[in-house]
Amino acid sequence: MQIWHPFTQHGLNEDIIEIETSDKEFLITKDGAKIIDGISSWWVNTLGHKNPIIAKAIEDEAKKLHQIIFAGFVHKPAKCAAENLSKFLPKDYTHIFFSDSGSTSVEVALKMAVGYHYNKGQNRSKIVAMEHSYHGDTFGGMSSGARSVFNEPYTKMLFEVERIPYPKEGEEERTIKAYKKLLEKEGNKIGAIILEPLVLGSGGMFFYKPFVIDELYKLSKEYGVIFALDEVMTGFGRVGTMFAFNQTNIIPDIICLSKGLTGGSIPLAATVSTKEIYDAYLSKDKAKMFFHSSSYTANPIACAAANANLEIWQNTDVLADVKRVNDFYYTQLERFKHLPAKNVRILGDIFAFDVEKSGNDYVSNIGIKLYDYYRKNNILLRPLGNTVYVMPPYCISNESLIRVFDVIEKSLKECL
Ligand SMILES: *Cc1c(COP(=O)(O)O)cnc(C)c1O
Repeated sequence: MQIWHPFTQHGLNEDIIEIETSDKEFLITKDGAKIIDGISSWWVNTLGHKNPIIAKAIEDEAKKLHQIIFAGFVHKPAKCAAENLSKFLPKDYTHIFFSDSGSTSVEVALKMAVGYHYNKGQNRSKIVAMEHSYHGDTFGGMSSGARSVFNEPYTKMLFEVERIPYPKEGEEERTIKAYKKLLEKEGNKIGAIILEPLVLGSGGMFFYKPFVIDELYKLSKEYGVIFALDEVMTGFGRVGTMFAFNQTNIIPDIICLSKGLTGGSIPLAATVSTKEIYDAYLSKDKAKMFFHSSSYTANPIACAAANANLEIWQNTDVLADVKRVNDFYYTQLERFKHLPAKNVRILGDIFAFDVEKSGNDYVSNIGIKLYDYYRKNNILLRPLGNTVYVMPPYCISNESLIRVFDVIEKSLKECL
C-alpha cells in the first residue's frame, strides 16, 4: 500500500522527503540533513519541534489515560485545559467544546451558531464569510471558504454563503458597507459571520486592519448575528498577540482554536463560546442539546500536551520570541527594495511578499519552481502561487533566519 499525501499531485513525481526526527526549527532527514522549517509545518508548530516539556507531558499522560468516552465522563487533563485556557481569555468565555482539528472546530462553530438560533425558534441558517477566506477542508469549512481549484469538484455540494469583500488597505469601508447592506436586506436570516481575523492565510496571506473586525462586530450585534472568529492559524502568538482578537476592541461570541493549541505536537481543537450561546441549548428537553461529537473528543494525551503548552505560555515570555522574529523581519526590508518583490508585508511571525511578474494563481509555475529551489537549499517554504511567506516556529535562531532570507534573495535572482 502506498501513501496518498495531502495536497500532492503524485503524477508529478515530486520526491517525498522522509523525516526521521526534528528539533526546534529543524526537520532532520535520515541522512542527517537539517531542513529549516520556515512554515512551522503548515502553521501548527509554535514553540519549536519536539519541545521537551510538551514531550514529557505526553509521555506521562500516555501512561495514565488514553481516549475515554466524553459524554457522561470527564477527566483531569480536559478540566485543566479548560481552566488553563480560561487564564488567557476574557471571562465572557464560559464554555469550551473540544474536537480534533481546525476544520472540526469550524464545523462546531457553525453548527453551534445555527443551532443557537434554531433553539430560539428562529430560522437563521445563512452564514456570512469573507472573500479569499479558508476555513478547512470539510464541507462546512469548504462552503465558508473561497471557491477555487481546491474545491471545484464539490462546488455543487457546498452550501451557499454570503460573501463580503476582503478589506484591502484603504478600501475597508467597502467591506463594512457591503455587510451593512446584507444585514439590512436579510439580517433576520443570517445566523453567523465567520472570519479569519487580521490575516487570510491560505487565500494568500492577505492582512487587514483590526478596526474592520470592530465594525463588523458592531453591525453583527445590531442584527443578532453570531460573531465567530476562526483563530485556528492566528491563535497562540502567530500575529504578535496571543490571539488576533486581542488586537481588536471586541470579544467575539465564538472562537475556533487548533493548530498552536498543543504547540504543534498532537491534534486537538477547541471551540470556545460565551454563556449566551450555551444557554440557548440548556433545557430539560433532550432535543435542544448540541448534537455534535468526535470520537476522539478531548483526548487526554492531547489535552495534556495543550496543558504543557499553556503552562509554557504562562511561565515564559513566548511573545518576546515572536517580537524578536518580527524585529528581524524589519531589518530585511532594505534588501527587498532591490528585488522583484511587491507588497512586502509583516505581521507578528509572518513575513510575506508577492513575486513580481507572474500570475496570481496557486498552480502558477513560479511557486513550484521556488519551492524546489528552497528544498534543494534545505529550507521548507511553500509559496501560495506567487506569494512567498515565512512563518517559522518562534524559537528559530537568528542564524537560521538569516539563512532563510539569504536563500530567498538568491531564489529571486536565480529562479525568475
Ligand atoms: C488550517 C486552518 C483550518 C483547518 O485546520 P485543520 O486542522 O487543517 O483542519 C481552518 N481555518 C484556518 C484559518 C486554518 O488556517
